[in-house]
Amino acid sequence: MRTDILIPQRMRNAQSVLSFETAHELGERLSTPLLVVSKSKLVETYCTMHEHLPGVELYYAAKANPNPYVLETLNELGCSVDVCSHGELLAAKGAGFSPSQMLHTHPCKTRQNLLDCYNEGVRWFVYDNESELDKIAGHTPDIKLLLRLATSGGSSLINLSAKFGADPSEVIEMLIAARERGLDVRGFSFHVGSQCVNPSDYRTVLHSIRKCWDEAAANGFLLEVLDIGGGFPAPYRDNEMIPLADYCDSVSVSLQDVFGDISVRFIAEPGRGMVAECMTLVTRVLGKSMRGGKRWYIIDDGLYGSFSGKVFDHVDYNVIADNPLGFPTYPCVLAGPTCDSSDVVAHDQWLPDLEIGDLLLVPTMGAYAGASACPFNGLPVAGSTMID
Ligand SMILES: *Cc1c(COP(=O)(O)O)cnc(C)c1O
Repeated sequence: MRTDILIPQRMRNAQSVLSFETAHELGERLSTPLLVVSKSKLVETYCTMHEHLPGVELYYAAKANPNPYVLETLNELGCSVDVCSHGELLAAKGAGFSPSQMLHTHPCKTRQNLLDCYNEGVRWFVYDNESELDKIAGHTPDIKLLLRLATSGGSSLINLSAKFGADPSEVIEMLIAARERGLDVRGFSFHVGSQCVNPSDYRTVLHSIRKCWDEAAANGFLLEVLDIGGGFPAPYRDNEMIPLADYCDSVSVSLQDVFGDISVRFIAEPGRGMVAECMTLVTRVLGKSMRGGKRWYIIDDGLYGSFSGKVFDHVDYNVIADNPLGFPTYPCVLAGPTCDSSDVVAHDQWLPDLEIGDLLLVPTMGAYAGASACPFNGLPVAGSTMID
């Protein structure tokens, strides 16, 4: 049976989690820009991952979106959390997660970050270089470690091995370096890269990780944890995605095929895949003009705000106008509210004629959007609320 090729019945598109009617109600009560979390969508996503990645413990990567509604909902569901800093730890703790259940995945931490998280009770950490081991041996020698390995190639939009991860050729050296310092390495972690559109990438990477695992075993290092990181993709403006269940099934089959013959505790750290689709932005038109024959709309959120993902996360968002009667649409420039002329959200967004005050909906805003927003120009970042 070919399990690496999927022929999906239906594809996933970027969908708003709320109607314009609800957006208008919320827009009356709360100010825009507003990020709206759908609890039911988040629950559905978590349950799909939980069910279709059997035997894999889910550690949500708080980096993608440390919003309290998101964290509280995931905590209620029994999800675990992956943090990279004391700030993320405090956000997760505030939402009910216990530090003793957290995994700290930053391979290159400041001493303060290490100590702050250790003092709160975190005991699982990640390393990918020898100097990190010196830090750990000097301050927190009783922690459990995962060795982060670099992966290569693949279909991911964002390479997360360009900066972190030991080369697979250095594995034994890195394990010996830890043992020489009396440190306890329990397994490997890796990240296939974020927005990994092809689940068969995991299979390729898992094969190379299995070689490292066996090499470690042959050298007397008995490992127990394999952390497969994140990478689960979301649909944006111009891309459809295979259904999440099918995607997870493919990863799960690869795990069984490559590691099924030995006893391993599997962990995944989904960020984007868990939260991108549960959040929709409600933004408002605050200005309009005609320039060089083209319609320009200025809206109340932009590249410095929730659309920061266009800069840092390399994605384009789908912007939806309320147009039930199907009025003609035109290619428009959609620009953010700051005085920076590069603050343009889209140069070619097809929209009907809009008036000042009209609302627009922007789906798939749950990951790496609000999380990297800043209040440049004295303009506050979007607020948030939860529905359902
Ligand atoms: C960013 C990150 C994640 C989450 O990645 P996604 O692609 O959003 O799922 C998981 N683990 C680590 C170590 C990360 O840096």
